[in-house]
Amino acid sequence: MDHGKSREDIINAPPQMENQGKEELYLYSLRKMAETKYDKNLSPVTDLLNLRSFFYLCGEMIREKPDQKYGVIVMDITQFKAVNEFCGRKEGDRLLVFIADCFRHYEKNRPDTYACHIRADNFCLCTAYEEEEELSDIALEIKEKIDHFPFAYRVLPSFGICASREIGPAVSYLKDCATTAMQSIKGKFFASYAFFDDSMRRQMLREKQIENDIVSALENGELVPYIQPKVNMRTGRIIGGEALVRWEHPGKGLISPGEFLPVLEKNGFIIKVDEYVWEQIYRYLKKLSSDGRRLLPISINVSRMHAYDRNLCDTLLRLSREYGIEARYTPLELTESAFLADEEGMYLEMSLLRGKGFTVAMDDFGTGYSTMTMLKTQPVDEVKMDRAFIMDLGNEKSRIILEYTINMLQALDTKIIIEGVETEEQKEFLIGCGCESAQGFLFYRPMPLKEFDALLLRQEEADRAIRET
Ligand code: C2E
Ligand code: MG
Ligand code: MG
Repeated sequence: MDHGKSREDIINAPPQMENQGKEELYLYSLRKMAETKYDKNLSPVTDLLNLRSFFYLCGEMIREKPDQKYGVIVMDITQFKAVNEFCGRKEGDRLLVFIADCFRHYEKNRPDTYACHIRADNFCLCTAYEEEEELSDIALEIKEKIDHFPFAYRVLPSFGICASREIGPAVSYLKDCATTAMQSIKGKFFASYAFFDDSMRRQMLREKQIENDIVSALENGELVPYIQPKVNMRTGRIIGGEALVRWEHPGKGLISPGEFLPVLEKNGFIIKVDEYVWEQIYRYLKKLSSDGRRLLPISINVSRMHAYDRNLCDTLLRLSREYGIEARYTPLELTESAFLADEEGMYLEMSLLRGKGFTVAMDDFGTGYSTMTMLKTQPVDEVKMDRAFIMDLGNEKSRIILEYTINMLQALDTKIIIEGVETEEQKEFLIGCGCESAQGFLFYRPMPLKEFDALLLRQEEADRAIRET
């Protein structure tokens, strides 16, 4: 840190109010905050800068020397929570202090460098550099030190690096980019660092675009529920359906949920999208009912984000009441890992909803963790087995796993439906195992409501014809 002023100097410098533009005012308010509570600008555990003062000081540094190249390195420990649980909080703190010292080393010894303890196990460093290699060398050196730290638990740090190409970059942007790079390798044993690259830049732009467009998409009715019929494989009859959202984008055509839901899960907007889809389904069921048609259950997906939404129960009950549709006609599908997100909260919500007549299916069964224990403890009526179970039935071990899983679920008296049936062989094998309900391209793909409705109508007419003969 030798760019003229120490961090104390900068924080204590008198504010210059003349000719201030927006940026100066912003920096002035940051400086004011820094002046009033300097203590609060350091992390309590490690005494490194916290994020606010880090941004401020790096901003000043870059303004003073805008022509240098700057890079940001962020670091996170995989499963730090487990470190605390396994070794105790005190030991966890000892590790954090050690890591902080590794970062501090560069603050002290490299020119134009600041280190920051963002929170918990997140650290970052902003430094001027000549060659990108210097940045990856720092990451590897820190990793090496952590690897040799005497500690009862094997600690796995991941680093993300953003080497700025522009003049006078915004540190917060560099940090976001470095974080994106880090997330691309988090938890992977073979990779300890990743640079933010062009494909990540494009992905970040795509995500920003989705965030910008989604609000108007919802208002303009561009989000539409498709329905994929569920069938009884033995009889071929449609026994219900699942609502799957699609984005009918005016410029880009049909966008599948895999592309935009993960972004909405990050910013919480998924809650609004889910409620919109649910309401469309209730409206459809009400129309069926008022036309005197037979109702079939249409499952709705409940995002894991609802684990934190305390209105979930009220919203669903309100819809059921407003549209006069019994809860059993809209079974809830919750992805397996949602039960883990906030175990206790989800357990309570699901128990409440079951008490009100909703049924609960555990979606994507077999893809997450703790599945077996969850079957014992969680309030679940049905299990939707993931297509991964049937993708490799040529392999004898896969067949054994599938057969025994079905047996186990049957013994637990849990209803089973299997997802992603694509071939006759899969269908025959499943029927042989005693599993009859399925959803898959072999039978039907997800389709617009209108098409689903026409399909149901044909089934109803065929039933009527049989009854009349
Ligand atoms: P999911 O709930 O497990 O839905 C099943 C997914 O498997 C659907 O993908 C469906 O099109 C696909 N699928 C069905 N049969 C086959 C098959 O035979 N082969 C293959 N390869 N795929 C098949 P989709 O529509 O792209 O949805 C993906 C995921 O997005 C869903 O997985 C669900 O988790 C989520 N999703 C969709 N709509 C909503 C929604 O309205 N709200 C929420 N929260 N999540 C939704
Ligand atoms: Mg589902
Ligand atoms: Mg699924």
